[in-house]
Amino acid sequence: MKLSTILKARRALKSAAPLPADCGELCGARCCRGDDGDGVLLLPGEEKLLFLSPGLKKGRSDNGRLYVSCPGKCVRAFRPFLCRIYPLGILWERETIRVVADPRAKIVCPLLQVPEYIAPSFIAAVRRAGKILARDPEGRAFLRDFTRELREYHKFIG
Ligand code: SF4
Ligand code: SF4
Repeated sequence: MKLSTILKARRALKSAAPLPADCGELCGARCCRGDDGDGVLLLPGEEKLLFLSPGLKKGRSDNGRLYVSCPGKCVRAFRPFLCRIYPLGILWERETIRVVADPRAKIVCPLLQVPEYIAPSFIAAVRRAGKILARDPEGRAFLRDFTRELREYHKFIG
């Protein structure tokens, strides 16, 4: 995907956040405390921006998808796209973007215990960013895979 598309999608999120306050302060940044087996998928082409994110290590999953693992902290301004939309996910179905709670986040993120606390402006910004990705063929392919993955997790986690 063109870097300009990725940057545009990131810009669509601007400084949008799930809460007006830093939610990481409330929960001790639980979503950033994975173990060696955890990683964050990258958008196609996002790896070209990794030089801006020292400390993130690139890897490839069994099915060939690029992801990064991190030491539990990063330069916030340069974090990957999927970290920016957490704990939400984007579904691309029937040519439409839907913003949903990421089923994996339900067992990690306290915000999803009370989803109505998540700022509507954040949900709207994630939707805008999703629409930007969906205009790009590689972005649509990524969103299709991501949708399948979220649907699979949903079956197990609910
Ligand atoms: S786990 Fe949820 S509440 Fe905690 S930092 Fe991550 S997004 Fe915020
Ligand atoms: S890359 Fe940054 S925002 Fe994403 S999980 Fe790691 S520390 Fe958290």
